[in-house]
Amino acid sequence: MRRGESFRAVSLTTGIDQFILRNWYYGPRRDRQREPCPRCVLPQRLPEPGRDYAYLLGLYLGDGCISVIGDPGKGVWVMRIACADAWPGLVDECIAAMMAVRPGNKVNTVPNDGCKSVVASSRHWPCLFPQHGPGRKHNRKIELAPWQRVLTSEYPGQLARGLFHSDGCRFTNRVRRPLKDGDKWYEYPRYMFTNESADILGICGEALDQLGVDWRFSRRNTISVARRDAVARLDQFVGPKY
Ligand SMILES: [Zn+2]
Repeated sequence: MRRGESFRAVSLTTGIDQFILRNWYYGPRRDRQREPCPRCVLPQRLPEPGRDYAYLLGLYLGDGCISVIGDPGKGVWVMRIACADAWPGLVDECIAAMMAVRPGNKVNTVPNDGCKSVVASSRHWPCLFPQHGPGRKHNRKIELAPWQRVLTSEYPGQLARGLFHSDGCRFTNRVRRPLKDGDKWYEYPRYMFTNESADILGICGEALDQLGVDWRFSRRNTISVARRDAVARLDQFVGPKY
């Protein structure tokens, strides 16, 4: 876990249930339920657990939004993360991360066309994710706060996992090589991350640099990880969607 690998990866390696791992790692959930918002207390603290925060930040930057609900005077905000129905494991992981970051708030799923929104309301989403704002993310400046950068440099793998789980994919490229005794097919796994915000692409590139994963822009709005060793390295933190 200290290497930054996901609960799922450690669970697959050890055969220990993810929820048991979570309890060992963080302690039982009830101990954390009355925690005040770490950004509203003095002295201000970093959100915990850092690895869940970094993952949720990645999901939020990729495919999330924070908006006010009900009477604006009451200052209650809702965070929504869109998850495709095709990947039920990712929905569970998103719910787990939201519950870990705001243990006192209820997390729900709202069905939509071909996807689910994972939703929770809190007064503190804007303090925890200061990137919120009116309009689309690619039409405004997205910059991590210095305290967020402390967490993303501690958990670049979790940030990348969140980004690739929301706006990225891992797919297999099949290439045909004609040989004397017939064609041979080669398969190359690759990663792509597509986003319209140059700032969010920059955040993704920086996380990959911190992980030592070689990447390049394959298009203006797309980061591609294609070298075999780079894909193998990123597999330690992201892996196929499930
Ligand atoms: Zn707060």
